Amino acid sequence: LRLRSAIEEAGLDGFLVTGADPVRYLTGFAWGQHGYLAVTGERAVLVVRPTEHQEAREEVGAGVEVVLAQEASAAERAAAEALKGSDRVGFDPGTLTVRAWELLRGKVSADTELLPHGELLAELRAVKEPGELESTRRAAGIYDRALTEVVPELTAGVTELEITARLEYACRLAGAEGFWFPSIVASGPRSALPHGLGTTRRVRPGEPLVIDMGPIFAGCPSDATRTVFIQPPEPAIREVYEVVLEAQQAALEVVREGVPCSEVDRAARRVIDAAGYGEHFNHPVGHGVGGPPVVGPDVKRPLAAGMVITVEPGIYLPGRGGVRIEDTVVVTSAGCEVLHSFPKTLTVAGNNRIDDRHPVPDN
Ligand code: ZN
Ligand code: ZN
Repeated sequence: LRLRSAIEEAGLDGFLVTGADPVRYLTGFAWGQHGYLAVTGERAVLVVRPTEHQEAREEVGAGVEVVLAQEASAAERAAAEALKGSDRVGFDPGTLTVRAWELLRGKVSADTELLPHGELLAELRAVKEPGELESTRRAAGIYDRALTEVVPELTAGVTELEITARLEYACRLAGAEGFWFPSIVASGPRSALPHGLGTTRRVRPGEPLVIDMGPIFAGCPSDATRTVFIQPPEPAIREVYEVVLEAQQAALEVVREGVPCSEVDRAARRVIDAAGYGEHFNHPVGHGVGGPPVVGPDVKRPLAAGMVITVEPGIYLPGRGGVRIEDTVVVTSAGCEVLHSFPKTLTVAGNNRIDDRHPVPDN
């Protein structure tokens, strides 16, 4: 386990891994919600409930022991048992519940300290292995395929929830095992909410429709946004669209190994500020996908080759509408590899076609 050297570097002699994502990443076992993975210098013990026992035994990699906890309260006892002999045990306060922490406190030996180390697990995943990059490419391709299938068919009067359902269905058929976050399908004034989930609102002609989804393939998430239209938008929204697209391209051009995250953010922000929309771009330009870093204005950390990040500027006009354009990209020594191919030029879905080569005229 790569985790062991990170544990040592942090001055710990054990780690209690919780949460489905990290457990899967470290063991290959896909159902980790209820499980504990206790890692010490000598042992790696995965504690599971009866419903997952068979699967865990089949799926976990070599070097991990699977221990069965018959009832819920036995899980903490088994985890504490596995950590015996470790004095300084780290845990992730983001995924270990207070309830579990209390139970563990009562079960670990008196000289075992439980120490919160929130970044340790996430940092392991900042730079991806080639296999993870391949799965991330597949995940990104699922988003593109779903939009290619669904967007041309969209018409006014369809609800945001129905669009969400059609897109998620298409993603599943294309191999998505799940979604990294609840799918965002926000139309009209709701598109000004950066994280507007689908509702029963019906989409109207000409208004922005923000589609932000994170299909997962083989445990590796992607994250992309396109803003599309059913019938051409009014000129003011069209202008906003062009500014966001220019900002996204400016930021993508800056991404390269060694460049501080803040510079990527600044490249996009400069374009949006110059167009007079600075106050309506109120989030970092991007973030790591399945790991650090945040790509924000105050983050001096340099990008590393093999990091997977998003580049996603947006402009949100309260009460009127918003536009966001987002790609998942892989940082390389020469720049970046953009994993999405769905068109970013203004897409109008009204006539059952995606019109990217013949942009609609200003009216
Ligand atoms: Zn997104
Ligand atoms: Zn994102």
